[in-house]
Amino acid sequence: MLKGIAVSPGIAVARAYCVDSVLARREPQYLSAATVSQEIVRFDAACQAAAVEMDAAIARVSEQLGDDEAAIFRSHRLLLRDPALVGKVKSSILQRQVDAQTALHDLLDEYTALFDKIQDEYLQERMADIRDVVTRIMAHLTIQETPAGLAGDEPVILVAPEILPSQALLLEKLKVVGILTEAGGGTGHAAILARAMGIPSVSGLRGVLKLVVTGDLLAIDGRLGSVFIKPDPELEAAYRKAEREYVHLRDKLVENRDQPAITKDGAAIELLANVNSVHDAEMACRTGATGVGLYRTEYLFLTHPSVPTEEEQLATYRAIIEASPNRKVTIRTLDIGGDKLVPYFGHEREANPFMGWRSIRITSSYPEFFQTQLRAILRAAMFGEVSLLFPMISTLEEVRTIKRMVADTKERLRREGIAFADRLPFGIMLEVPAAAMTIHSLLREVDYVSIGSNDLTQYVMAADRDNPKVAHLCDPFSPPIFRLLRHIIRACNRHDKPVTLCGEMAGRPRCFLPLVGMGLRRFSMSPAFVPTIKELTRSSTIDIACQVAERVRRLRTFKRMRKYLTRVTRQVCPNIAFFDTTK
Ligand code: PEP
Ligand code: MG
Repeated sequence: MLKGIAVSPGIAVARAYCVDSVLARREPQYLSAATVSQEIVRFDAACQAAAVEMDAAIARVSEQLGDDEAAIFRSHRLLLRDPALVGKVKSSILQRQVDAQTALHDLLDEYTALFDKIQDEYLQERMADIRDVVTRIMAHLTIQETPAGLAGDEPVILVAPEILPSQALLLEKLKVVGILTEAGGGTGHAAILARAMGIPSVSGLRGVLKLVVTGDLLAIDGRLGSVFIKPDPELEAAYRKAEREYVHLRDKLVENRDQPAITKDGAAIELLANVNSVHDAEMACRTGATGVGLYRTEYLFLTHPSVPTEEEQLATYRAIIEASPNRKVTIRTLDIGGDKLVPYFGHEREANPFMGWRSIRITSSYPEFFQTQLRAILRAAMFGEVSLLFPMISTLEEVRTIKRMVADTKERLRREGIAFADRLPFGIMLEVPAAAMTIHSLLREVDYVSIGSNDLTQYVMAADRDNPKVAHLCDPFSPPIFRLLRHIIRACNRHDKPVTLCGEMAGRPRCFLPLVGMGLRRFSMSPAFVPTIKELTRSSTIDIACQVAERVRRLRTFKRMRKYLTRVTRQVCPNIAFFDTTK
């Protein structure tokens, strides 16, 4: 048995589908003399597609961010014309009669060996450029390939080094019933993608791709973080039974979709969804969320081959709004950086990416680029009930700067005679401890706040949310986090400003009672968790929640807190044990 980090609850038994990164080595493919010229045509088409993407990237990045930022794409574009790259690959295909991927791999190996001998930072960076270009061509070459040995509609457990945002589409195409990744902690973007789809998932499984091949039977428990490779018949039968029970209970819970989320003593709790795509927004409707509490716009940017234009953004935001429950959506501006990178905001590796050039720190320093996004949001807001949300706020100065930028954007739209929604609630994410500590002054400037407990936890605990080695510390189930949340929620209630919690803990059953007891009434979570949290809402009373919050306040260790909350949550709602990770 392998043990990893329990990321998304549930049980699955299915065959493995291993997805290596596009650069992972595979067996060389040899061609017949007759098919060599077709392979050259295929390679040329992939290069041409990569060139079109890069031309678009150069034009859009220059326009929205400036010429310097587009330099990276320009040098990549030049490489596509370089005989030392394209010419070499073609002659390799012709002379050795290998397929384009094999020829590209061999070229990459040759350059890697060559550059490894040269200790020069500039040349090392050129090697990184070559790798990027090869990855882009390779992605076009592999895009149409289907996995060998698996029928298209067979349920699979995806096994990958990590899940990249660009692979999210693949997840929607295949029938994925489980996800295992080598990298990642409990709240990184791969975990968020798995949870958004309600798929059982385990991360931090170092070396799993060396142990599993496509087609192996796997049994996984996303609640405990356990994985069995080729389970024996008894174990397989036991897991299949547990899987059936889990699916049955999950499908049954969804039947509460049209019931109101009110406690037994009549308090209304708002259950909202976190979404990344139209697909997620549709799921939010199916599971009974009453709106979208967090739309993470970065997936649009991460999956775009260059930079989305204002019109493209408008179309996407409008589609999300129209697909969302009650057309009610909180749109968060681009939260890039940390573990989500795009090539056009500087290429250097940072020692501490989560504490560096990230999120609002990036967007607010590119006014043209930021205003393009703000314009698209303000225009899309005509089609629903939209709120504006700004991530990773640290200071009052930042809030004031952004407010000015929003006002300028509106003024420009007005001058241009373009229709937009003028009165959007202005909110900030509380995820930096400095902002949490100065909440009273920030609240005077904003209409509402949203607590990003994923980042807040990593910053308070000084424990990277993506590093499996410190996952035990990066857990909101802890006395310091509950203490800080209490401070934030009380401050918001005192100022009469709405407060939502939109980090992953909003969907974790054992966090629910203490948060309600502290005065929280709005939760935003992965759509798949809404039925569970609604079940819990309908089984609780405010009185019990207050008692739990009071008791939690006096508990001093992670362990006691977890033990107590597990017990009391089960007492209130015995059905939901399947729907929480044990982490
Ligand atoms: C958070 O930090 O809790 C949050 C909701 O934002 P993200 O997970 O996208 O960083
Ligand atoms: Mg965050």
